[in-house]
Amino acid sequence: MVTVDGPGGTGKSTVSRAVAERLGLPHLDTGAFYRAATLAALEAGVDLDDPVAIEEVIRKRSFRQELGSMYLDDQDVSELIRGEAVTLNVSKVSAHASIRALLVDYQRRWVNEHDDRAVVEGRDIGTVVLPDATIKIYLDARPEVRAQRRASQSGEALEAVLEDLYRRDRLDSTRETSPLTVPEDAIVVDSSDMEFEEVVAHIADLARARVGLNSDRT
Ligand code: C5P
Repeated sequence: MVTVDGPGGTGKSTVSRAVAERLGLPHLDTGAFYRAATLAALEAGVDLDDPVAIEEVIRKRSFRQELGSMYLDDQDVSELIRGEAVTLNVSKVSAHASIRALLVDYQRRWVNEHDDRAVVEGRDIGTVVLPDATIKIYLDARPEVRAQRRASQSGEALEAVLEDLYRRDRLDSTRETSPLTVPEDAIVVDSSDMEFEEVVAHIADLARARVGLNSDRT
């Protein structure tokens, strides 16, 4: 089991996906669950400060992640959940303890269905969701680098992206339940001055080395 935590804009998703492919393991993007929950809440028009109302909406829908796509009921929402409205509101929804408990349950179920062998990425995977993982990575990069990468991907203005990153970093790392922190036993990888391929190869090598030491647990 490999966990990859870290703030937004580090290339966590693409890196984790590539690492999973290299190791021949399935990949889970837990952020997609929080984004899909936010989409469901926005569609239902409920107050995002009201966890009880959000939970009621979520319990009526089914959440499924399969081969890199996120489904809400049977609709593929992979693109919709990357939209501006969801991105602006997701940290608010993910700060509610009861919503996290529900979504963590879905994530653990997914891991269980995949025989506890996967690359799982998010914000609290090594600390809360899978504290017994074989190897924990904390992927980081300097804020300006993260903003630059995201802006060149999305075409948005650098300043606006930087502002949004700082805002979400602050919300994600100061919330009461499962704030974004470096897991105690994690290996910190700062990708600021590394090429994408280099980051992927480095993490895959670290995982292989660790699995070699613990051959009974992947
Ligand atoms: O990784 P991504 O940017 O898609 O995550 C979107 C949001 O979901 C994060 O800003 C954070 O608020 C929340 N999240 C979380 N815990 C996770 C994954 C994501 O709180 N494990």
